[in-house]
Amino acid sequence: MKKYIDPNAMRISFDLDEVLFVSPKTHKVEPELKFPWNLKYKERLREGTPKLIHDLQEKGYSVWVYTSSFRSISYIKGLFRHYGITFDDIINGERHRDEVQGESKVCKPSKLPSRYRISLHIDDERSVYENGRGHGFDVFPLFEQDDDWVEKIEKRADEVCRRKMLQEQLNNKHNV
Ligand SMILES: [Mg+2]
Repeated sequence: MKKYIDPNAMRISFDLDEVLFVSPKTHKVEPELKFPWNLKYKERLREGTPKLIHDLQEKGYSVWVYTSSFRSISYIKGLFRHYGITFDDIINGERHRDEVQGESKVCKPSKLPSRYRISLHIDDERSVYENGRGHGFDVFPLFEQDDDWVEKIEKRADEVCRRKMLQEQLNNKHNV
């Protein structure tokens, strides 16, 4: 795989519910965990999740979870560890509340990836997608079963990264 991407450059985040966690009734899923772990971790992963996360990290992207749910960070880490996945960072509902909403009286968007310098966020909620336009972050909408989702997200990540690099080059030129 080509390693033309600055390893520190770009952060990508994934929502959990309806994005990485899906129902086997409506989506293709990864095999469930072996007993007894399947009793503790009941969520099912969208088929292709481990491959996609590994591919993105292999390319040098920093891959995060950004969920509004209040699952604990240790629960999320534990679940994904069983699939061989280690995220670079995790934002859950509690962390978002403390760090993004904080003491502010103004109601902040339900997710604000730009606050964490995340360049691309993957989410099933239309409102998150629409907030992205107003708040300057890029959202890839994902909801239904899509056999090509891994390739599509890898392609989008590379596009966003190239655009970012071009923008930085332009900014540097203007600053000389
Ligand atoms: Mg969701």
